[in-house]
Amino acid sequence: MQVATGKSILNGIAIGPLRIYKKAETQTTVTSTLTPEEEYARFDAARVKAQEQLGVLYEKALEEVGEDNASIFEIHQMMLDDDDYLDAVKGIIDTQNATAEYAVSTTGENFSAAFAAMEDEYMRARAADVKDISHRVVNVLLGVGDEEMMADQPAILVADDLTPSETVQLDKTKLLGFITRHGSSNSHTAILARTMNIPALVGVDFQDDWDGKLAVLDGYNHCVYIDPAQELLVAMEEKRSNDLKQEALLQSLKKKPNVTLDGREIKVYANIGNAGDVGLVLQNDAQGIGLFRSEFIYLDSQDYPSEDQQFMLYKRVVETMAGKKVIIRTLDIGADKQASYFELDKEENPALGYRAIRICLTRKEVFKTQLRAILRASAFGTVSVMFPMIISVREVRDAKEIMEECKAELQERGVAFGNVEIGIMIETPAAVLLADELAEEVEFFSLGTNDLTQYTLAIDRQNPKLDNFYDSHHPAVLRMIKHTIEAGHRHGCWVGICGELGADQTLTETFLRMGVDELSVSPAAVLPLRKIIRSLDLSLDLNKETQV
Ligand code: PEP
Ligand code: MG
Repeated sequence: MQVATGKSILNGIAIGPLRIYKKAETQTTVTSTLTPEEEYARFDAARVKAQEQLGVLYEKALEEVGEDNASIFEIHQMMLDDDDYLDAVKGIIDTQNATAEYAVSTTGENFSAAFAAMEDEYMRARAADVKDISHRVVNVLLGVGDEEMMADQPAILVADDLTPSETVQLDKTKLLGFITRHGSSNSHTAILARTMNIPALVGVDFQDDWDGKLAVLDGYNHCVYIDPAQELLVAMEEKRSNDLKQEALLQSLKKKPNVTLDGREIKVYANIGNAGDVGLVLQNDAQGIGLFRSEFIYLDSQDYPSEDQQFMLYKRVVETMAGKKVIIRTLDIGADKQASYFELDKEENPALGYRAIRICLTRKEVFKTQLRAILRASAFGTVSVMFPMIISVREVRDAKEIMEECKAELQERGVAFGNVEIGIMIETPAAVLLADELAEEVEFFSLGTNDLTQYTLAIDRQNPKLDNFYDSHHPAVLRMIKHTIEAGHRHGCWVGICGELGADQTLTETFLRMGVDELSVSPAAVLPLRKIIRSLDLSLDLNKETQV
């Protein structure tokens, strides 16, 4: 038996075989030792394999997200038959005695640059597609690819790192847990693991020979046991079955109100990353959705999702929630959340860069497409919208103005929409300091404590080396929260917390005493939080009045 340690993302236990996922090396050998004919034959076989993969993806997408969304995989299949593309690959192989992988990745880069420079918007959008298909063929040539990420059998996935877009595409029915070498416990990948209620460890120095071995991932003790001894395995299986029993016990809190012993009621909502998570929200009896991270729809897509595609997804969530509030956060892309078709430049300081509302206000058509989709979905239930990364009153006014333009466009088209409550995320120190003015503009605030902590403490939430400095209980952060709640209330705004801190049970009483109106947490954290809330008596020990 071997033991390795890391940082736990979720207290839980996963038992199963390890599956090591290796990403394709982007560094490819340039000069071939084979003849050009042999290299071209390698390319052609990889191309056919890639087309087969795309066929499987098409069928899966057709079933899960409908024909419109699935059609991109058909387009990709066709691109791999394109004569110009095939001639270019062959030309590089022939003239430079190059390897197939070098020829394909160079062709991908060249075609992508050519498409990106075109006038026509449709053609420009193909720039990302040609890169994507080339990447797929290179993966096949190097013997790594999509199918390697997914085990046939349920497994604990092991990888150097997982990006949010990779995580969101994982087949959750086969994912018992995951382990990464890199990654911080405050990253979006970590948040997704919590949303999916999947035990995960980051910062584990794994070895290649672990592949296929039986392991126990012990999230409570921040470690993984490889080839566990029989006694340990039995003990861990028992612990896991106790966890399941505890979860079942929590189910008895379903349909009970979130009210303290002295009668203070608070809303407990859930955070979701995509429409598929709504089942977890119902299962855990959240009163609403406090944060729908809509950017994951974009990350799960090969191209800009259309108004209709987004509308269908939002409508599905809103209808399923049957009148309960659904707060959709507008696109918060950029920084660690990258979709290639946005073609965002590489930045020195991505967390301080071109992201979220900054992209939406400058790429107005992308923003408007999303806002119209949200507005249309609001005709089917109770929808609120909130804007991320706000730092000024100007931004909120601009966003609201664009929202009005969208309403006018829908009216002109004769399309129905409902009353949409407007709020903002408070996740920058600037927004906290301007909370009084901002509250005059909107109906609610939602505190994004993940970013608020990052920007208040000047600590990159992506940097694992800083995890020990990322003190979410830092008095500066708690004072920011208190200030925001008080300012919001002064101007008639309700105030919630949707960052990870909202689920921190050691702070629940503090937040309630501060007067927070809503806590939005990962679905699995809803019932444990209800249990805590129902055990608190805020009338006791008034000296405990939030001293932060
Ligand atoms: C936050 O910053 O707290 C938040 C909820 O947004 P995200 O984690 O998606 O940046
Ligand atoms: Mg944020």
